[in-house]
Amino acid sequence: MYDFPPYRPPSEAESILIRVTEGCPWNSCRFCGMYRNERFRIRPIEEIERDIKIADRIFGERPSVFFGDSDNLLHPELERILDMIRDHMPYVNRITTYSRARTLKHESEERLIDLRERGLRRIHLGLESGDKEILKLLNKGITPEDAIMAGKKALKAGFEISEYVLIGFGERHARETAKVLNMIAPHFVRLRSITLIPGTELHDMVERGEVVLSTPAGRLEEVRILVENLSIQTEFLSDHISNYLWSRDGVVYTGVNGKLPEDKESMLESMDRLIEIVSELENSGNLLDSNDMFRMGRISL
Ligand code: SF4
Repeated sequence: MYDFPPYRPPSEAESILIRVTEGCPWNSCRFCGMYRNERFRIRPIEEIERDIKIADRIFGERPSVFFGDSDNLLHPELERILDMIRDHMPYVNRITTYSRARTLKHESEERLIDLRERGLRRIHLGLESGDKEILKLLNKGITPEDAIMAGKKALKAGFEISEYVLIGFGERHARETAKVLNMIAPHFVRLRSITLIPGTELHDMVERGEVVLSTPAGRLEEVRILVENLSIQTEFLSDHISNYLWSRDGVVYTGVNGKLPEDKESMLESMDRLIEIVSELENSGNLLDSNDMFRMGRISL
């Protein structure tokens, strides 16, 4: 009877999962296959209340809750849902959700402050890129200006925000993304290396040669540019298997992580060493990325 959100960020692996909406109201990003076969639906409050009441039987008493699916600020009764969690789960001290810049842009400041005061603490947002051409290519449905406005609005209302960035679209993408992140100053920047999902438009565009993605070494260069150009305080995380690189002998790279600005120099030094190693492996044909591993069925996303 319990309805689980099919996707959640890795950082929410220990959270109680409550499905507030189903699917994605946009569902048009060219790289995304997550909710392709699902119609967007706002779950009735009665269904959510039932899940909240039985959640402890499934998860036990845990300190955090994550709301799925992709855009839960659209739920008109989110306030009541937050109150129900406070009443039924007094042990919860952190509630987080996915949302979209486009939705945040249209939310009133008063409602955002109210949601924050009722316990919603962190919003996970897919920026993907700060380059307007790449956003268009991905059909993300937002501009860099939308992302900046939405992020700032959420921060002003007191939220913590996580911005997700795709890696794989080149140097200009990395530079423009750093510019946008510098203007938002999110608490977290989380990297996802582009992994092509069969059935998505981007997959077909790459197959037809209309879009060329960076090679693995090029992606590390992108990450380096991003780190180098960020001038904000933030936690920089590669907390996803899509960032890994493998040789035939095993994992060679699991991603770069650190707090900026204090860890910047050591992150850049380790990136320089890794770029050399990965370039050699790439040139010798002994390197696998998340696309190879996904195709071989050795990882799932
Ligand atoms: S990336 Fe996010 S906004 Fe885009 S289609 Fe997928 S779930 Fe929707």
